[in-house]
Amino acid sequence: MENSKAMRTWLDDFKLSHPLVIAGPCSAETEEQVLKIAHELKDSDVSIYRAGIWKPRTRPGGFEGVGAIGLKWLQKAKAETGLLMSTEVANATHVKLALEHDIDVLWIGARTTVNPFAVQEIADALENTDKIVLVKNPVNPDLALWIGGVERLYNAGIKKLGVIHRGFSTYEKTKYRNIPEWQIAIELQSRFPDLPLICDPSHITGKRDMIQEVSQQALDLNYDGLIVETHIDPDNAWSDSAQQVTPTVLKGIFADLKVKKMTSEEDDFNNEMAKLRANIDIADSKILEILGNRMKVADQIGALKKAKNVAVLQNKRWNEILGKMILEGEQKGLSEEFVLKLFKAIHQESISHQEKVING
Ligand code: PEP
Ligand code: MN
Repeated sequence: MENSKAMRTWLDDFKLSHPLVIAGPCSAETEEQVLKIAHELKDSDVSIYRAGIWKPRTRPGGFEGVGAIGLKWLQKAKAETGLLMSTEVANATHVKLALEHDIDVLWIGARTTVNPFAVQEIADALENTDKIVLVKNPVNPDLALWIGGVERLYNAGIKKLGVIHRGFSTYEKTKYRNIPEWQIAIELQSRFPDLPLICDPSHITGKRDMIQEVSQQALDLNYDGLIVETHIDPDNAWSDSAQQVTPTVLKGIFADLKVKKMTSEEDDFNNEMAKLRANIDIADSKILEILGNRMKVADQIGALKKAKNVAVLQNKRWNEILGKMILEGEQKGLSEEFVLKLFKAIHQESISHQEKVING
């Protein structure tokens, strides 16, 4: 697949304001809920309404979506509000039903993108239609698999494409539900600058309080749009309740977002600068997160040493670490002086953590 301007024509065709906003509930629950939310979003920055009809759930027994009946509710919402409608499709039957009900935008969920057979089945079912199709990143941080999903659609003649960055699953406990790994999306953006890139702060964060922050980060990185789960009664939503916001909160988030224009040379410079600074901010937060995790391990070591009555300072081990880190640092272009200073500080903090554990 070549980078192709054709991929983003749909964004321009709609003359959508920057950024493109997709919003609506995680799941369609009842006709009344679908219509109420759509009406509340009608006169806002939202251009495309979202609602999951078929819901892939991690464990059986959860709410698996209302099914095809929900497509009728979306049709009604479109007729009443003029918003474009979008939903998730995971197989050829979903595609067939979505096409029959005039759904404008289809997205492929993270759990489907991981499966080339499923994506191919969807691509075949969509062959040569002019639907807009958005591919969510796979749950695992695999850029080739993500690009592969887009390629299968492109090869089936679907040209109105886009990708949704919804973060990646990890066993590690982090402040995110799905860690962003921004560098993966940025690499995709630099390989295919004309492929619209949309951020899903709802699934990245899993928490409504963090949506503003992650949305701003995405805009600073020149994303083309945002997809935000929005519900009239988030706490009682049938799925993903912790991450949904009310339409009023969504409007507040958008009012506070700083959107940059992309016109003059100066703007190009500022955009490039903002992008680099955002990368630095991401790296700095990662450093702190890693250091925090390292100190938690130090606490566990402290507890173990306390139980076995072993001294905190183990000089042999420390010298081994230093030697190894200086060599690794050199390979990464870091001076010996810097690595020494850095690890002395880390070691000091680690010792004081262990001492705290041991001495209470
Ligand atoms: C969703 O958008 O509701 C959804 C199921 O998302 P994901 O595929 O990103 O988990
Ligand atoms: Mn959801």
